[in-house]
Amino acid sequence: MPMKGRFAPSPTGRMHLGNVYSALLSWLSVRSQGGSWVLRIEDLDPQRSRRAFAEQVEDDLRWLGLDWDERYVQSEREALYLEHLNRLAQKGLTYPCYCTRADILATQAPHESDGRVVYAGTCRPKHLEGAWLNADSHPSGRKPATRIVVPDVTISFVDAHYGVQSVNLARHCGDFVLRRADGAWAYQLAVVVDDALMGITEVVRGRDLLLSAPQQIYLYRLLGFEVPVFCHLPLLCNLSGQRLCKRDKSLDLGEIRKSGHSPESVLGRLAFYAGIIDRPEPVSALELVPEFSWSKVPVEDMLVRPDFGEDSGEG
Ligand code: GLU
Repeated sequence: MPMKGRFAPSPTGRMHLGNVYSALLSWLSVRSQGGSWVLRIEDLDPQRSRRAFAEQVEDDLRWLGLDWDERYVQSEREALYLEHLNRLAQKGLTYPCYCTRADILATQAPHESDGRVVYAGTCRPKHLEGAWLNADSHPSGRKPATRIVVPDVTISFVDAHYGVQSVNLARHCGDFVLRRADGAWAYQLAVVVDDALMGITEVVRGRDLLLSAPQQIYLYRLLGFEVPVFCHLPLLCNLSGQRLCKRDKSLDLGEIRKSGHSPESVLGRLAFYAGIIDRPEPVSALELVPEFSWSKVPVEDMLVRPDFGEDSGEG
């Protein structure tokens, strides 16, 4: 398969530096290997996604000089998610779940302190064959979410940057959701169907998603798709050591562009964080292509000053 990478932003706000860091490294990896780059707008959360943010992502990427070869919008691809969900349902691997968030938290083991929710299997039927009969007339009157059955299995894979990872899915997440009760498609299903159908061979993204890869590999295998190479990245963090997020206003691209930084200045600093150049000097995206090598990219997270300031930005 020809080499293909992707950047898959969720348009729920302006891109912050961490998003740009992922975009840049995925783009450089692709361009340095002569591959193609896909931009996929992940707008499946109807409450939080905004078209204006999606347009802004495209404007920001153009401003940075990160060009894409194909572009997709997930909300236009729902029929594909349904088709693949049906394939899993036909294998007898899915069931309706009527639990509310409060029900799930009530059955949660107290040690899951990292925010992970491990589903206790409350709605999993004894016999999966008839699982969907009468699914619409549950005594609670609620509409069900769709969960996939997760066996007591350990998924191992080699992350190209962080090495061997092994996760027992039953302990890590339990039966996970493929479609929410309100009909919204879950990230785990959509990302697998899309990466597979788009022919993505290399997934580059922040290491906050490192332990989503085993759930995704489980789905790849069940659907008979080839698993791509996963290459997770260190995170850019604020000075309190937390991963940058929408709340770190000063480090979103809107503020950075307003404060007068050029695209070359932003790219130079990010390339410096990534070990690609020795000093945070202005540089264009194209100039970075011959300099890029995965072996230069660190594995440790990095602290970024709130003013994205004059010194190296290292914590
Ligand atoms: N849409 C996800 C996010 O913005 C990224 C998904 C992925 O790269 O797999 O966090």
